[in-house]
Amino acid sequence: MSRIQEVTPLNGEPDDEPCELCGLCCKILGDGIAPTDTNLLRWMEDGRTDILRHFTAFLEDGRRVRCSELIPSDLGGMIFAELRDPGTGELVTSCPFLRRTGRRRYICSIHTTKPEMCINYQPWIFGETYFNRCKALDKSRPGSWAGHSRKNPE
Ligand code: SF4
Ligand code: SF4
Repeated sequence: MSRIQEVTPLNGEPDDEPCELCGLCCKILGDGIAPTDTNLLRWMEDGRTDILRHFTAFLEDGRRVRCSELIPSDLGGMIFAELRDPGTGELVTSCPFLRRTGRRRYICSIHTTKPEMCINYQPWIFGETYFNRCKALDKSRPGSWAGHSRKNPE
């Protein structure tokens, strides 16, 4: 997955982009999301331990710390952070923030503060964040009539 570092677009606002809110990209790629230092700092400042607890940071000094236990000064020595089960510490198989809201409709439960990579991810753009299973892809093809229709996310 070429741009897994930039997953994913679900925003619950179906009219501002071609995304169909099918949830497929989040289901397939969402276990690989990783926050930036800026994301982590914002969640710390906002008291979002409900988000931070799902990530584990690996630090230059060898420590492995659940992000809800990090302090801002740790961020300078962070190598990376990744999704981990808050109970077992094991890698996860899906993004814990994906919510099903209809038969074929999903939203991101942390949309307003989701990781930067998710904000940047636009899999319907050929040659950029291309994800060939994206249901919005046809709409973005030059000359596609689908691109001019109003979508029905249900
Ligand atoms: S954080 Fe939100 S947008 Fe990102 S993968 Fe999870 S559900 Fe999708
Ligand atoms: S696969 Fe495409 S249509 Fe489905 S949620 Fe992701 S961006 Fe939206």
